[in-house]
Amino acid sequence: MTGTRKAAVLGYPAKHSLSPQVHGFWLARHRIDGRYEAIEVRPEAFAAELARLRDAGYRGANVTLPHKEAALAAMDGVDALARRIGAVNTVVFAADGKMFGSNTDGFGFLENLHAQSSWQAADGPAILLGAGGAAKAIAVALLDAGVPRLDLVNRTEDRAAALARALGDDRVRVTGWDRREEMLAGAALLVNATSLGMAGKAPLALSLDALSNRAVVNDIVYVPLETPLLAAARRRGNRVVDGLGMLIHQARPGFEAWFGQAPDVSPDALAALRRTLLDALAAREKPAGKT
Ligand code: NAP
Repeated sequence: MTGTRKAAVLGYPAKHSLSPQVHGFWLARHRIDGRYEAIEVRPEAFAAELARLRDAGYRGANVTLPHKEAALAAMDGVDALARRIGAVNTVVFAADGKMFGSNTDGFGFLENLHAQSSWQAADGPAILLGAGGAAKAIAVALLDAGVPRLDLVNRTEDRAAALARALGDDRVRVTGWDRREEMLAGAALLVNATSLGMAGKAPLALSLDALSNRAVVNDIVYVPLETPLLAAARRRGNRVVDGLGMLIHQARPGFEAWFGQAPDVSPDALAALRRTLLDALAAREKPAGKT
């Protein structure tokens, strides 16, 4: 195949996605003739849209809310990790038209955690707030990394219990949302994988008093970059990890598969990419008409 290599992110909504900026940055840096766009597609049209992209010569796609489970069902093959998580976020179209799915959210999460802190799985128990799509991928990643214990805490406890059952690992415990502060004592890692703290949502109500100041606090929400949780953790001396790097690192396997080049993740490149993304976020916050 020759000509412009194309890929896209499919979501509903999709226009808010920063993935076009991530891939656009690397395409320019590596001088690749490629294009990556955000495509908004309703759930009922998802499978047909994926097939349309394949037939139009696209190399593949990222998949975001609410299509990740539907993507799993639409694949000709999925890797073992995506199967365990029950969701696909990266699709590659093979030359014969078959679709292969993987899930890179957990990879992105761990790469970012390692890049922004000295956290090691053996440091101690991890607490994961949330049981949605992102939390599932993070739970699998933390267990595979070797955490000695994983506490799942979710507002809807049944959802955390279902996740624990699916994980089938005796290191996993489920704790009620009302007891989330008690869980903090002894934790080496606290992860917020709920949407609380995101711009437009309520902040996460959580006193960190019981948390060791040696624990790492990671919020995967990245709008704003410094969530109220991270600000509170930073004030009391905890190492904090923001969510922007997860977005960047989860994009790496797809970029390499579609555009034929492992993206530059040197410290210089990552710093420049973060600036690009922060500028894009800041531009969105400006009132219309202002530059
Ligand atoms: P999701 O599947 O919709 O899950 C949302 C989670 O937030 C659920 O656990 C939900 O609990 C919880 N939640 C929502 N409102 C709540 C409230 N008022 N009180 C308590 N819990 C509440 O979404 P997702 O895909 O997992 O994404 C979660 C967040 O992570 C989003 O903000 C997203 O932007 C961010 N994210 C970041 C990255 C990254 O690359 N940094 C990647 C993926 C997602 P219930 O089960 O009780 O509803």
